[in-house]
This record gives sequence, structure tokens and C-alpha cells, in this order.
Amino acid sequence: MKYRELLKEGMEELKKAGITDAQIDAEYLLEYVSGMNRASYLMCMMEQAPEDVIERYREFIKMRAAHEPLQYITGEQEFMGLSFAVSPEVLIPRQDTESLVEETLSVLKDGDLILDMCTGSGCILISLLHEKKTCQGIGVDVAATSIALARENAVHNQVEAEWLVSDLFTEVKGEFDVIVSNPPYIATRDLEELMPEVICHEPKRALDGHEDGLYFYRKIIEQAPLYLKPGGRLLFEIGYDQGESVPDLLAQAGFCDIAVIKDYAGNDRVVRARLHDL
Ligand code: GLN
Repeated sequence: MKYRELLKEGMEELKKAGITDAQIDAEYLLEYVSGMNRASYLMCMMEQAPEDVIERYREFIKMRAAHEPLQYITGEQEFMGLSFAVSPEVLIPRQDTESLVEETLSVLKDGDLILDMCTGSGCILISLLHEKKTCQGIGVDVAATSIALARENAVHNQVEAEWLVSDLFTEVKGEFDVIVSNPPYIATRDLEELMPEVICHEPKRALDGHEDGLYFYRKIIEQAPLYLKPGGRLLFEIGYDQGESVPDLLAQAGFCDIAVIKDYAGNDRVVRARLHDL
């Protein structure tokens, strides 16, 4: 079977399964399986594909046809220009989250100690430390599987950080200059509206913000003052419709300098606040 025929078969399979970007995904998976870049892959379209390539390609097409995200098939996702290993144990890093990283970078000072709550793949903390070499940080997650992957991602991106399995602050010690978090923030009743890629394959614990989606913000805001230095910063990613509710929670808890920042799509995406100086 020629590469060209194999690609056509894959594309049709994905179209049949209702995958929106059938062509792009079919091409991407063929590039991935054959290990070729785009230029060399286009050159060999008329050549015979090796048996093992055909077999692996069909297997991956089957996974994608079942709406498995591409990133779980290839095991990687790019974020802030770095490469992150991902597995179904962690949320796939989102471009939206880059807004949180950018905003955090703008408040970080040399030598700051950062806490990344609900670190997942570790993408936020690793990107921050990769950019600001003088800072240090601890990444926290309730799942040991996430922490193992975050640790692996730190090594891969040549970043040194501490990693801790902890149910929010239970195992955390010390005082931080900056606490950053992209916690689960989707209200339980809205979970079923998510794309099958997300709801059937990404970990529910990384998405579910309980009844009104604000559970983790409440918990973190309540305890953050005990773990922030005076004047310390707290930054969250938020859902597009949480640009009032999360700032309200911060104001009620006595935080100051509260600001909401939009993402590249123009949606409210980041909230920034500061703990009062003593
Ligand atoms: N901090 C990770 C990310 O932003 C995981 C977030 C989560 O699991 N809610 O991708």
C-alpha cells in the first residue's frame, strides 16, 4: 500500500467518525508514525509504506476515530514553546493557559518562590522557571501520577523544581511570593456539554469544579493568605464567565489590586490579586 492510499484511508475513517479536522489529523498522524517531516513525507507519497507503519497508523486512526485527543495518541503537547509529555492522567496544556503564564511572568521578581497549585503536567511552573532562572518553585497535585509526569517534564525541559503530592495545601509548608493555579473550574452540570475529546478522555478530576465551578477557588483563596508572604501575589486561570465571581471571592477574602485579564480570544481568562502588606 502506498503512503498516498494509506493517508486517504485514514482521512475517510476520521471523516466517517465525524472528526472535524479529519484531513489535518490524518496527515499529522502519518507524519508522526512515519517519523518524517512534512517535506520528506510529501515526496514519498507514491512509495510503498512499510508494514509496521501501516499497522501503527491504522491503530492510531482507530484511536482518533474514537475521539481520543491527538495529544494522548502522540503523548506530547507544545506549551510556551516547550514540549510536554502528556497522558490521560493529566489535562492537556491549553493555549489559553499561556495567558496565565504571561501574566505571572509580568509580576515575578528575581528570586521569587512560586507555588503552582493543581500542577497536572507541570506546564505552568516549568514554563515560569524556564523563563525566570533565578526563581524557585513547588508544583503540587493531588495525583501521584501527575506529579511523576510533571517531574519527567521538568527534567526534559532542564528545569529544577520541587514536586509534591498534596490535596491542595495539606502537605505544603512555607511562604511563597507567588501562588499560581489553573484549578478545575467547570460546574459539574456543564461537564456533559464538553466535546467528547475532553469529557470522554481527559481526567474528570482536572475539570470538575463541583456544583458551581468555584469549589477550588474558594478553597485556595481561603487558605492562600497562610502561605503567601505579605504583599504576595495570587493568580488564577478562570473560565470565560467567572470574571466577576472569582474577583468577588478575592475581595471578600481581603485581597487587593484585583485585576481581570483577557486571553487572545478576548475572553476573561486570568485573575490577579495581591495580599495586603503588613
Ligand atoms: N496546571 C495544569 C494545566 O494548566 C493542570 C490544570 C488542571 O488539571 N486543572 O494544564
